[in-house]
Amino acid sequence: ARGGRLIVVSNRVALPRQTATGGLASAMRSALQERGGLWFGWSGKIANQTAGTLRYQQDGPVRYATMDLSRSDHDHFYDGYANRTLWPLLHYRPDLVDYNRGHLDGYLRVNRLFAERLAELIEPDDVIWINDYHLIPLAAMLRQRHIRNRIGFFLHTPLPADGLLITLPRHRELLGTLASYDLIGLHTARDQRSLEDYFVHELGASLRRGHRLRYGDRRFRAGVFPIGIDTQQVAQDAKQADSLEEIAQLRASLDGRVLIIGVDRLDYSKGLPQRFEAYARLLERAPEMHRKVSFLQIAPPSRGTVPEYRQIRRELERSAGHINGTYAAPDWAPIRYVNNSFPHSLLSGYYRHAKVGLVTPMRDGMNLVAKEYVASQDPDDPGVLVLSRFAGAAQELSQALLVNPADTEEVADALEQALSMPLAERRRRWRSMMDVLEKQDITAWRQSFLGALTD
Ligand code: UDP
Repeated sequence: ARGGRLIVVSNRVALPRQTATGGLASAMRSALQERGGLWFGWSGKIANQTAGTLRYQQDGPVRYATMDLSRSDHDHFYDGYANRTLWPLLHYRPDLVDYNRGHLDGYLRVNRLFAERLAELIEPDDVIWINDYHLIPLAAMLRQRHIRNRIGFFLHTPLPADGLLITLPRHRELLGTLASYDLIGLHTARDQRSLEDYFVHELGASLRRGHRLRYGDRRFRAGVFPIGIDTQQVAQDAKQADSLEEIAQLRASLDGRVLIIGVDRLDYSKGLPQRFEAYARLLERAPEMHRKVSFLQIAPPSRGTVPEYRQIRRELERSAGHINGTYAAPDWAPIRYVNNSFPHSLLSGYYRHAKVGLVTPMRDGMNLVAKEYVASQDPDDPGVLVLSRFAGAAQELSQALLVNPADTEEVADALEQALSMPLAERRRRWRSMMDVLEKQDITAWRQSFLGALTD
């Protein structure tokens, strides 16, 4: 399988000349550039109908094949089943799962159409890498079309325990299809265990040494591959950001106050209401901190068509307003709450000027912001990362101050500890985390996944 092309499949495709947003997109792009191949997925465009015709683009050794979707297919597949059914389930929120047949049908329809079109493009030596929860049944549908190539799947979210997975209506029909992959990549050993438990206890699969599973006539394997960031690049961006106007403005506005930063998509999995509450606890407990700290929360809205996202947005507006109303002075606002997104180059500069990175999701597959915060620090005077135990990143970043995000007292304690941590301890913790990030960067991640898939 070594010599063949790489075929990457993902819902969104970072087309040539588009800026690749996010680490995943640039990792896939580098993998494709190195090996040559094809990137297949949704075009990002809504059409009058789902015609199923592919649009091709070529960029050096990489070919792009993308398809438009109709409004209704997209809404059922993406907003519906992927984001309103699977996302809350995978993030341990069965209470928010909105299941309906129409969503599931749309999800299966789009996956089947992808399988049909993709099957025509596959050559015998190609290696296929399918990404994320939008496309779980794709390998099974390709196998039905007699595709025998190596097919790998990477899940970028957590995978909850089997007791939760079985709350999904018709879970066997969906999750059983995972057996059609040769390799399933997950971020943590806990996610791997969930997959194995589900297959063994719910589906009666057998588990052998080396995480090998046997289910019916399929043999496959689940592996742990924690995604990394482009550590050198982030560190360099952060250093260079010092010359940016925006960074000078931020510094001037702080007027010597200590900055605490949070950066998250506005998502209920990110633990933002609890984080605001923990910060309010700090202000309540430590009046001497008043006017000395400033908490900048960057939270670009996402998935605004889904009601739960509109709801959390309202809740945070209320909470930020309440905290500022309670504690602000004419010349000091304790929270700066910003519903905008910023380019990476600028974010890394903001991270670098923050004494504390506050990353407290209730659940997160990995959480790249935690890693970016660490990589952006000044080695001579690094800040402190306060990190949720329930982010995948906590498995690697054990030198962060690890917290349970639901325990607002504990988070407030960690904030106090971070704000008063001596330089020597900050350096020691930072160095140990940076070592991990340098070794397990984004290049190492894609190479180890592809290595395991083609081995
Ligand atoms: N991000 C960004 N601009 C913003 C906010 C976030 O570029 O205004 C990036 C951030 O730097 C990170 C990614 O979006 O690389 C978020 O990844 P993460 O794993 O933290 O969370 P996700 O959004 O995937 O749940």
